[in-house]
Amino acid sequence: MSLRTICEIERELVKVDRFYPSSKTCSVCGWINEHLNLSTRQWTCKNGHVLDRDHNARINILNEGLKIHRLGRSFTKVERSNKTTSVAPLDEARSPSCL
Ligand SMILES: [Zn+2]
Repeated sequence: MSLRTICEIERELVKVDRFYPSSKTCSVCGWINEHLNLSTRQWTCKNGHVLDRDHNARINILNEGLKIHRLGRSFTKVERSNKTTSVAPLDEARSPSCL
């Protein structure tokens, strides 16, 4: 991996609202299970999709994060070599300086 490639690697942190119903929302059809409790690890939505609670939540959080990212409403954390170098609004963080 060249130095240029290493410098182009960015990690972005997108905050998803803590009240976003990631576990309760079916990641396939979007139906929300208002009665899901914490002890339920697997559930079936009204359209028959069988969901693992944690896997379903990960998919929903990823999709919500991508949606927020596309809208440009989030803040981004840019990291280089495992060190956080700046926290900036998304537009400012798109072209970090290298070295
Ligand atoms: Zn569903």
